[in-house]
Amino acid sequence: MPIYEYRCQSCGFQKEHLQKMSDAALTTCPECGSEQYTKLISAAGFQLKGSGWYATDFKGGSTKAAPDPAPAPCGANCACHPS
Ligand SMILES: [Zn+2]
Repeated sequence: MPIYEYRCQSCGFQKEHLQKMSDAALTTCPECGSEQYTKLISAAGFQLKGSGWYATDFKGGSTKAAPDPAPAPCGANCACHPS
């Protein structure tokens, strides 16, 4: 479960919250109750997002470049393919 860092723009209160990816972002500061409580982009969150995009791009690119592995020239019905 990722940890999100929040900071209140109103009073400066800062705290880390353990949240599921699907959980709604917090907006209310637990310290002063203002609605200026916003999620900070942490190093961990940025890294996760970055690798996710990279994996997606890589998969799409490789699929487009080589849709199928080239079949063996002799197929499977010959002596060089015992099984
Ligand atoms: Zn506050």
